Amino acid sequence: MVQEMHDSRDRALARVVVSRAIKRGQLKRPKKCSKCGHAAGVNSIGNSCIQAFHHNGYAPEHHLDIIWVCVSCRSKAVWDRRNKMPERKAS
Ligand SMILES: [Zn+2]
Repeated sequence: MVQEMHDSRDRALARVVVSRAIKRGQLKRPKKCSKCGHAAGVNSIGNSCIQAFHHNGYAPEHHLDIIWVCVSCRSKAVWDRRNKMPERKAS
């Protein structure tokens, strides 16, 4: 599964880019989910439950192209994206 390995590397990089942007103040993590409006709680290590979601995928040009969603909207969105990604070729 070469494509999957490629995906996970891009995903890891995309996360680094986002966390760097947050530290620089370039991105700001909101207090609410942008889909359902669920207010963020924090987990045991103080991280917000609102997460960055790369709705257009993890390609370098989309690294900062994110929406902020709660954990449950995120898993739903991941599922949707998986079913909609145009580059998923059936051959
Ligand atoms: Zn939500």
